[in-house]
Amino acid sequence: MRNQDLLNRSLAAVWHPCTQMKQHESLPLIPIARGQGAWLEDFDGNRYLDAVSSWWVNLFGHSNPRINAALKDQLERLEHVILAGFTHQPVVELSERLARLTGLGHAFYGSDGASATEIALKMSFHFWRNTGKPLKTNFISLQNSYHGETVGALSVTDVALFKDTYAPLLRQSVQVPSPDARLAAPGESDAAFAQRCAESLEQYLAQHHEETAALILEPLIQGAAGMGMYHPSYLQQARSLCDRYNVHLIADEIAVGFGRTGTMFACEQAGIRPDFICLSKGITGGYLPLSAVLTTDTVYAAFYDDRVARGFLHSHSYTGNALACRAALATLDIFEEDNVLEKNRETAAQLTTALEPVRMHPLVRNFRHKGMIWAFEVDTHDPQFAVKFYQSALTLGLLLRPIGNTVYLMPPYILGEEEISILANTTLALLNGIKPSST
Ligand SMILES: *Cc1c(COP(=O)(O)O)cnc(C)c1O
Repeated sequence: MRNQDLLNRSLAAVWHPCTQMKQHESLPLIPIARGQGAWLEDFDGNRYLDAVSSWWVNLFGHSNPRINAALKDQLERLEHVILAGFTHQPVVELSERLARLTGLGHAFYGSDGASATEIALKMSFHFWRNTGKPLKTNFISLQNSYHGETVGALSVTDVALFKDTYAPLLRQSVQVPSPDARLAAPGESDAAFAQRCAESLEQYLAQHHEETAALILEPLIQGAAGMGMYHPSYLQQARSLCDRYNVHLIADEIAVGFGRTGTMFACEQAGIRPDFICLSKGITGGYLPLSAVLTTDTVYAAFYDDRVARGFLHSHSYTGNALACRAALATLDIFEEDNVLEKNRETAAQLTTALEPVRMHPLVRNFRHKGMIWAFEVDTHDPQFAVKFYQSALTLGLLLRPIGNTVYLMPPYILGEEEISILANTTLALLNGIKPSST
């Protein structure tokens, strides 16, 4: 009853993201009344296991008591203050801690992932301009990359469905071959394929480095491309090529940061440090919109000058919001106090074992796993596969949103044993429910 009421009012008043609204004539919205741990609950008492961490943001569950307590405390002190000309404790402490974790510094804040991408692109371009290389105005990204959907971020994104319509608005950028292991030649190892892609990058840079400002990439996993995973050696190669050709390396760790790939940041697995790191999504544990870009002392120094216009004159109204920074601090506290990366290794091993029948399922291709992400393709030609799978999953109490034929699990880090079996068993039941006629 209340579900239905809220659903109808939402359809009348809210324009939902990444949605053809007409599809909701047949696909019901799910009004959510409350969240607890890994579970979402609607007004009729139906529960859904949030196996996509509410679009990759939630790390430690909904209504987490520790993040709640930190926010309540912050609420009594300071909710927000202009960050130009002013500062506050949560933003200072967060910047110091992110610097220690990333090996970069000078944290610049935005509110969403896409704004972090914009900030990094603009900073890179402006750095070259400030240092006497104004011709370096172009950006390179990987084929099938995703860096957000504002106009600048969309320019370096390579997902046709999101990009093609807006092509006339976008700046040209160049896509180099993606080392996504699914694209390797038959029999070619991940490492050999990564090497081959790095050679293409080198060929491009050798010719075009003078007009290239930066290479932006998603380290280790291209999320929106359908969790395309690649060998870390590509990152090492990209780092040394960027050094050799005087091009910035921007690591978009918006999705993979904060423990998703098994290390705090994905770049650590390649032992490299980028020139810019973009962070968002998990940064506040999925509580509040916040993003950050950290960079090197070299980049920072090129803006530090008596002339105002050489500074980075970029801002968002909510830059460094105190509540969001406090949620991020509480999130980092949980990482430290609970030894989360270590504990995730156990959780991941358990879920991987529980998913063995899924890996062996006759319709499953390319089963892969890294850190707290699992993904596979389903062998079907049904163009409606993703939406059908999503709907069937909901009827079984599971929130999964396939990308095309790719089913992925990206759960919060707090899954217990029972939730691990529910997640694995329901995924298997969904695969068993796919009708042969629709493959
Ligand atoms: C989600 C995402 C973004 C964009 O973040 P928004 O907060 O949705 O703007 C950028 N890059 C990557 C890799 C992402 O996964």
